[in-house]
Order: sequence, then structure tokens, then C-alpha cells
Amino acid sequence: MKSYDYLVVGAGFFGAVIAERLANELGQRVLVIDKRDHIGGNCYSVVDKKTGIEFHKYGTHIFHTSDRKVWDYINGFTEFNGYRHQVLTTYRNKTYQLPINLETINAFYDINLKPYEAEKFLKAEIAKSKIKNPKNLEEKAISLVGRRLYEAFIKEYTIKQWKRDPKKIPAGIIARLPVRYNYNESYYRDIWQGIPLRGYSRIFERMLNPENINVELNTDYFQIKDLIKVKKKVIYSGPVDRFFDYTFGKLEWRTVSFQKEIINVKDFQGTSVMNYSELKVPYTRIHEPKHLHEERNYAGNKSLILREFSCEDHGEDPYYPIPDKRNKNTYKCYKNLMKKEKKVIWGGRLADYEYYNMDQVISNALSVFEKIQRNQL
Ligand SMILES: Cc1cc2nc3c(=O)[nH]c(=O)nc-3n(C[C@H](O)[C@H](O)[C@H](O)COP(=O)(O)OP(=O)(O)OC[C@H]3O[C@@H](n4cnc5c(N)ncnc54)[C@H](O)[C@@H]3O)c2cc1C
Repeated sequence: MKSYDYLVVGAGFFGAVIAERLANELGQRVLVIDKRDHIGGNCYSVVDKKTGIEFHKYGTHIFHTSDRKVWDYINGFTEFNGYRHQVLTTYRNKTYQLPINLETINAFYDINLKPYEAEKFLKAEIAKSKIKNPKNLEEKAISLVGRRLYEAFIKEYTIKQWKRDPKKIPAGIIARLPVRYNYNESYYRDIWQGIPLRGYSRIFERMLNPENINVELNTDYFQIKDLIKVKKKVIYSGPVDRFFDYTFGKLEWRTVSFQKEIINVKDFQGTSVMNYSELKVPYTRIHEPKHLHEERNYAGNKSLILREFSCEDHGEDPYYPIPDKRNKNTYKCYKNLMKKEKKVIWGGRLADYEYYNMDQVISNALSVFEKIQRNQL
């Protein structure tokens, strides 16, 4: 029977960061397993063989953070390009900026307001709907941006994404909808942003490179757990409900699927992500990954695009937790069981049943490592 100090389940950011720290800082022998055939979890990037264009298999990932500790840590494994994310949306054959900004308002209403006029204008639009206490997502969104903008950019997109009528989604799902009364087009406000110069997968290769880390892919924890001797702890970043054999039922996720296509033009849409807000367009977004690396100047007159579809979770690839009452209660039940597993350390999006950005996961993993280092875990 093989023996390790730590067994790390999942080679995404949560598992990889802890494994790297345990190996490099504490000299521990670590086995990292992943049931997929690659490292990197949902951040995995790969080069398309036909076009040479690198793409993110599980959806476009933009690194952004204002956390100095995370930024310093990740820069030990990669440099970043200067990419700044911008999101555009197509509605009735016209293209608009998102989040809603001054350009969106002026283009949509065919006016030319200044920032101070736009704010007043939108308030008047919102007042028309006379909603005082929004009871559902639809009413909440209208109370934030007015009915016309809601119907153009939010209503049908939400139906496509969640497969639910916005009137049946609790108002609490959205606390606010960002509206900018200027021409700022940058999607994120974080201090540091970009795409790893040599792709995400290279980061994981470097993190998991130390000699005292072994990586085994195509390896499901539940099939090998009795074959490995773990001296200290199991770091588990897989789905929590699976760990407990679905004792309290399944936690639900919304998932997405991607349809890849090579297009015979150099530039298909002029940007990395284009949303489609209308229900009659079956996909929610089109990704064109060559725009994530303008510094590479990809040669050739072809481009790669990925159409994104929102779909039911069949247990294969969970993407977004659905934090409704039932799921929250189910998770609470699992949480009680988790506390009793003294040999397991939990973390990452699947074990915490949370949507995290990459920087949050890295920050959480660094905190867990520090607790291990101080013998608090
Ligand atoms: C469509 C989409 C777009 C996103 N875009 C961004 C973005 O632009 N910026 C950003 O900061 N964040 C983004 N994120 C979030 C980002 O993907 C997550 O923060 C990150 O992947 C979480 O890392 P993790 O290690 O927790 O989980 P994961 O990356 O999912 O890693 C968990 C790993 O555990 C493995 N595993 C599960 N069960 C088992 C088992 N039984 N045995 C062995 N292995 C197992 C899985 O195969 C997986 O590889 C996006 C997420 C999605 C869904």
C-alpha cells in the first residue's frame, strides 16, 4: 500500500495551491489525484490543434484580484498579459456595452445624455413602474434599471440561464445591478487583471512540479481511498454530497456546455465574449479566445469560437450552485457531517457549495495552509 503525508483530491486551484505549499514549504509527501484526465480543474486551458489558439475548456477565465497576497503568490508561477475584460451584448441585431453604462443608455434610447442627465433619466424610467417592494427577480431588476432595459438585457437572458421565469426567482438573488453613468467599459474593477501569458495549465504544471508531489489523473477518490495510506490528512475539493454518498440528497447545480467551431475568418466578433440576450438565440454567449491573447498575434485566417449553452446538471460537470432554500438546507445537513470527519480538510467550490472566483479559492487555500502550518488543522 502506497503511503503519503497528505492526499489531495482535486487538481484545481484549491488542491494545487495546498499541495504546492505543503510540498515546498513543509517538505511533505503529497499525492494529488483528479478524476479528470488533466490538471487545472475548471481553469484548464488547452491549445486547439487545428488553429493553434489556446482556449479555456470550461469557459473563459479572467484572472482579477485586489488581494495583494494572492497576486504576489500567483506571480510566482506566471506573468500576466495586460488583458482587461469587456462584455458586450447583442440585442435585436445591435451591440451594447455591459454592465449598463452611459453608452448602453444612449445607444439603447437613441439619445446623447451627459452623466448627470443619465442618472435623472434612469430614475424617471424606474419611477414609471411604481414598484415599491419588489417580490421577485423581475420586479427587483425593474426597480433597479427600469422596465425597458430589463426586458432587453435581463429578462430573456435570465430565462435562458436559469430555465426559470424571473417572476418565480426570489428578489434576493440580485442585490444590485451595476449601472455606470460614464463610459467605463472595464468589466472588473480589481487592481490586478489579466490572462496568464503562457496559459492557465502552465501555472498548474509549475505548482505540481516538486519532486515530493505525485499526480495521478483519471483517478476517482472513491475508487482508490482504501488503497492509499494517508498519514496526516485528506484535502478534499470534490463535491460534498458525493463524499457522504448523497445521504441528504443531491445538491443542485446549473451547468453549461460548449459547442466548438472553427470559422474561416481572422476575427469573428472582435471581442472575447459576446452575450446574446434574446430567447430566440439558443446560446447565452459566444467566446472567441484569440482575443484573450492579443500579444500572441495568432497567424492564419481562421478563428475558434465556442457557443455556450445553459443546461441541466446531469452530475457530470457542476458549474454554478443554485442557492435556493432547499439546497441551502441540504448543505447545512452536510456541514454537520463534515465537522465530524476529523481526518478531512474541506475546501474549494465543490466542497463549500459556493461560487468562488479564482482569487477567492487561492486565498482560501493559502489560509488553510497557514492553519496547517500552525497546527490548527
Ligand atoms: C463558466 C465559468 C467561468 C468562470 N470564470 C471565472 C473568471 O473569469 N474569473 C475567476 O476568477 N473565476 C472564474 N470562474 C470560477 C473558477 O472556475 C473557480 O474559482 C475555480 O475553478 C475553483 O477551483 P476549485 O479548485 O475550487 O475547483 P475545480 O477547479 O472545479 O477543481 C476541483 C477538481 O476536483 C476534481 N474532483 C471532483 N471529484 C473528484 C473525485 N471524486 N476524485 C478525484 N477528483 C475529483 C474535479 O475533477 C476538479 O478537477 C468561473 C467558473 C465558471 C463555471
